[in-house]
Amino acid sequence: MTRNALVLTPVLNYINGEWRTPGASEYADVINPATGEILARTPLCGADEVELAAQAAAKALPAWRSTPAQERVQYLFKLKFLLEDNLDAIARVITDECGKTYEEAKAEMRRAIENVEIAGGIPMLAKGEISEDIAPGIDEIMLRQPVGVCATICPFNFPGMIPFWYLPYALACGNTYIIKPSEKVPLTMQLIFQLIARLGLPAGVINLVNGAKAAVDGILDHPAIRAVTFVGSSATARYIYRRAAENGKRVQAQGGAKNPVVILPDADMEMTTKIVADSAFGCAGQRCLAVSLAVTVGEARNTFVEMICDAAVSRKVGYGLDAGVQMGPVINQAAKARIESLIGRGASEGASLPVDGRSASIPGYPNGAFVRPTILLDVPPTGEIARTEIFGPALSLIHVHTIDEAIALANRGAYGNQASLFTSSGSAARKFRYEVEAGNVGINIGVAAPMAFYPFSGWKESFFGDLHGQGMDAVEFFTQKKVIVERWPKEWSRKF
Ligand code: NAD
Repeated sequence: MTRNALVLTPVLNYINGEWRTPGASEYADVINPATGEILARTPLCGADEVELAAQAAAKALPAWRSTPAQERVQYLFKLKFLLEDNLDAIARVITDECGKTYEEAKAEMRRAIENVEIAGGIPMLAKGEISEDIAPGIDEIMLRQPVGVCATICPFNFPGMIPFWYLPYALACGNTYIIKPSEKVPLTMQLIFQLIARLGLPAGVINLVNGAKAAVDGILDHPAIRAVTFVGSSATARYIYRRAAENGKRVQAQGGAKNPVVILPDADMEMTTKIVADSAFGCAGQRCLAVSLAVTVGEARNTFVEMICDAAVSRKVGYGLDAGVQMGPVINQAAKARIESLIGRGASEGASLPVDGRSASIPGYPNGAFVRPTILLDVPPTGEIARTEIFGPALSLIHVHTIDEAIALANRGAYGNQASLFTSSGSAARKFRYEVEAGNVGINIGVAAPMAFYPFSGWKESFFGDLHGQGMDAVEFFTQKKVIVERWPKEWSRKF
């Protein structure tokens, strides 16, 4: 496939309906992780740019919230078609700045579009309620009103999809909005905002601010920003949750993960291996729902170990726009070094490495941040590698004798983003889904990503807050309820 011809530099902010060259004294390089080429430089904006965006969003709020919901969603319908028409171009940008394959990037954008579609139903999803005659002549009404100016802080691994867990719901519910992409991958939103700029939205309804910690702190501290959503690592999620909550904001913060998969001896091993390999090595293991820890039960080990090693070795690794490539690089050289060091740590803790993906060399891409699929066998259950999020294509294997041991192992971890089970037993499946401590559960599924009409859940250290992204949770998050009790005595109407 040919290289992306779009020239998207410099990276701009989009504030009050206009592209703006931000004043920034520091920049972060945006690097194609497959080639090492610098694609752009992200301006690391601070509170001053957030101030402009917050002012624009606050000014746009009164007219936007009084625009009927059925009119607000018309912009989303237009956006859906614009995103679909530009799917190829967006996917190429995602591949170039984020490293995942072109097919993975397209699949990511389909998930984004699905959220736009579901939010199109907000006139019905966010409508109010009324109970007549709670006492004679007295009615009780529950209205949903927008929260106000809202903001989202995004991670690097899904630059196109994750903003859409929130953006369409926030807008359709009558809020105005600010997005801060990851400084590592700002280009996807540069392109998507070129499409948003064509929607004819009133100025200030949606704004884009680029940057890193200083921009985030500007958002967390700004009094006009009433709600914040975040997706990223658990350490940052905890920080965002605390600081936003201290400032009286509504907040939801998705964190990291260490997702276990339990494989019972009665599982269809061929299907299981394929799905587990796709989950562990898809997007180079940089999915928050990637399987990272495979727990074999009883005889499952006999076949699974050999089959998953074969799947790891045979995965075609390379630049995501090249034909036939199944797995791209990790996000940058620092991530590669971190992942390789954790693999080394696993080996020093006693795991063996039947497939070792370190020091990968990909012909034609000498500067790429590539780590090949890696299998760590017999990882000590109490060691660091069994607990730490690697966020790379490294699958750790642990063997136990019973499903109870496997579930206990799965539940011992600090995270609770996803847990999966592979089996052909309905009762084992029921036991697992009942007992396992995770917000997203897969039964014979490797990436249990909820459809847009379900919440993207997450428990324990994987989530700080209450309401999640997507679906009705997003409607709840982006609206505040107002309850009115009204008395209209019947005798008053006789006066007319
Ligand atoms: P990250 O926490 O490093 O960065 C996320 C965002 O926070 C970025 O916009 C960044 O600019 C900002 N940020 C980083 N450090 C900050 C600080 N100290 N103070 C304020 N803001 C800060 O995460 P990442 O490396 O971009 O993304 C990978 C992580 O995201 C992984 O842990 C992955 O599991 C997690 N993730 C979780 C989900 C989920 O749904 N639970 C989804 C995708 C990714």
